[in-house]
Amino acid sequence: MSRTCLKDTHVSLLGLTQAELAELVAEAGQPAFRAGQLAEWMFQRRAPDFGAMSNLPAALRMALAERYVTRSMEIAAVTGSRDTTRKFLLRLQDGRYVETVLIPANPALYGGRADRRTLCVSSQVGCAYDCKFCASGLAGFTRNLTAAEIVEQVVQVEQNTGERVDNLVFMGMGEPLANFSNVTRAIEILNAPWGLGIGARHMTLSTSGLAPQIRKLADFPLQIRLAISLHGATDPVRDRIMPVNRKYPLVELFAALEVWHQKRKQHLTFEYILIEGVNDDLEQARVLSGRARALEAKVNLIPYNTVEGLPWKRPSVERQEAFRDILLRAGVKATLRLEKGHDIAAACGQLRLKQETAEGIIESPVPERRITIGAGA
Ligand code: SAH
Repeated sequence: MSRTCLKDTHVSLLGLTQAELAELVAEAGQPAFRAGQLAEWMFQRRAPDFGAMSNLPAALRMALAERYVTRSMEIAAVTGSRDTTRKFLLRLQDGRYVETVLIPANPALYGGRADRRTLCVSSQVGCAYDCKFCASGLAGFTRNLTAAEIVEQVVQVEQNTGERVDNLVFMGMGEPLANFSNVTRAIEILNAPWGLGIGARHMTLSTSGLAPQIRKLADFPLQIRLAISLHGATDPVRDRIMPVNRKYPLVELFAALEVWHQKRKQHLTFEYILIEGVNDDLEQARVLSGRARALEAKVNLIPYNTVEGLPWKRPSVERQEAFRDILLRAGVKATLRLEKGHDIAAACGQLRLKQETAEGIIESPVPERRITIGAGA
């Protein structure tokens, strides 16, 4: 994986649709079927460069290589093992880093099956939404990922592991709905039969609650699943931990979710991290029950994973179960994850910006910031 193979000014073909590839092939004076061959090499065979594309004419391969690449990132580090969660640290063309996480077995999660592999992809470098409990936003927002960079996370992991990814969750770093056009373009490529061929029903987009974009996504033709990072059932609780709630309070968020519910067949999922003394009051469970029932939403309760430098912790197991039982008694489909350490939430909710130093990759320092938890903060 030499760094010289990444050409700074070249456009990655992994972000182009088949129609766009066809245009490009036509410009090079080649017949249309070459676009299909090109797509097959890139997405199905995961060819790292044009040199490997042996059934394409040499002249076409050379013309493409002058302006385009099929890789724009490289794997800088892999942690974890085959049987557990594996985190891939990817170095982008501009020297930034993102992480993508492969979770081998995915029981009872987002419609997944135990023998399926789920990949948790990032949609941005950093995050601007500043949720008070989350590691990803600690160093602020840097930039959107391109569609090619989102698609390439899957291609890199499949190439590296030799395994197919069956489920995708947009629960890595970033707010996917704040990068709407690149994320939806990536989803089209990931889903297409000429692309990665991952079923739309096996993709879950998770959002902190960008109401206007949820309405827009309700018209997106592919039947992807939607998960809402709710984490509070009332405005005062949600305001404390998710600044986005002041922009789109629950009444606006739920009006948008109602639109989604009317237009789509896919059930909604509410993610609810349980944080001691912040959102684990049993009254929250009662309000949450009503909200979930009204939209036929499923609730995933996730005991909070401690983030270094942040003051939050998870409630006792008894409290977690009491919270869940209120939902279950109200007839809501609710799950509570009781695993520790390597669970999916730890994997997905705790991606942090990395930077490279002489000593290797280190996590970026937690910036000085006041953690304000008052309602008026
Ligand atoms: N911005 C999107 C996508 C990120 S998803 C969203 O907010 O949905 C990452 C998920 O992990 C979110 O549900 C987030 O709230 C959750 N999360 C963040 N930090 C966490 C932590 N320390 N423990 C458990 N879950 C966490």
